[in-house]
Amino acid sequence: MLPTAHLRDLARAVGFDLVGFARAEPIPPSFLMEWLEAGFAADMDWMGERADERLDVGRLLPGAKTVISFANNYWRDDAQSVGSPIARYARGRDYHSTLRDRMKAFRKSITVMYPGLGTYGGVDSAPLMEKVWAARAGLGYVGKNGCFITEPYGSWVLLATLVLDKEVDDYADGPAADRCGACRRCLVSCPTGALVGNGRVNARACLSYQTIENREQEVPEPFRLKFDNLIFGCDICQQVCPLNRKPVFAAHPRFAPRAVAELGTRELAGLTLTQYEQLIPGTALARARYDGLRRNAVYALGVARQADSRALIEKLCGDPSDLVRSAAQWALRQLDP
Ligand code: SF4
Ligand code: SF4
Repeated sequence: MLPTAHLRDLARAVGFDLVGFARAEPIPPSFLMEWLEAGFAADMDWMGERADERLDVGRLLPGAKTVISFANNYWRDDAQSVGSPIARYARGRDYHSTLRDRMKAFRKSITVMYPGLGTYGGVDSAPLMEKVWAARAGLGYVGKNGCFITEPYGSWVLLATLVLDKEVDDYADGPAADRCGACRRCLVSCPTGALVGNGRVNARACLSYQTIENREQEVPEPFRLKFDNLIFGCDICQQVCPLNRKPVFAAHPRFAPRAVAELGTRELAGLTLTQYEQLIPGTALARARYDGLRRNAVYALGVARQADSRALIEKLCGDPSDLVRSAAQWALRQLDP
């Protein structure tokens, strides 16, 4: 049986802000299946794949006994990124690499200290239901906005999960108390009505999905009309949340915004491939790819309807990318309704 006091110290030493422990018990299928069956995963087919493993970590690590959930605060208030059309979590170095580095250091330490210990870990990409585990590990709860909400950092957190094949000496009692109460601010503020209640998000209607995952085709017009200074991800349902008003302190400098966070919509729409290659690799923005990012920025120019964007939009009407060209033609029509 491993001592949680020691594991907590190690987790903090490698840079995690929060850590909690849950028994590796199977997750009721309804957690995943109801969301998938309602079609809320849009075309993210990978969410339905490996469902057996998502619901039972014993299939990922034979003999799994414990799930450790880690969280890092990513909230920072750096002046240079004020007004950025990029969601906060994506303004700096790709969080996957930061959390993976920390997880790697943690695993290395515990496998040296506890020889023979089996582990399985993931940051966002493994078939692990990270919010469920973070709740079971006592780090917080899933709010009506579908985000994981912690006491010290609100929902400005990123999660990592590690499964162990040994027990620990102390487990959390379950999710922290729900603090949403009668509040509905996120539900009424979501510009596309993507929040469907009980913390579930209809990904198809969510601007985070449309700006990031739906990157190879045109965005349906009702959604692109909501790209209001919003190019990669959407923070609206977090910004309006009263539990997010006062984060305790700014995140570690590894989460500091990079130069791309200083760019506005017009600069992002006009990004050359050379600039893209200088600014984007190593950030989460790479997921949208060059044309997807410019498509989003051009939609946002159309929504903003500023006359001084006309020359750029006209130029992009001749762009080699079908996606950008068609977005520019649409944006031009917004200027000349
Ligand atoms: Fe709605 Fe934006 Fe939240 Fe998605 S991220 S649920 S679009 S407010
Ligand atoms: Fe809960 Fe209100 Fe925050 Fe939505 S805005 S997550 S309802 S506290």
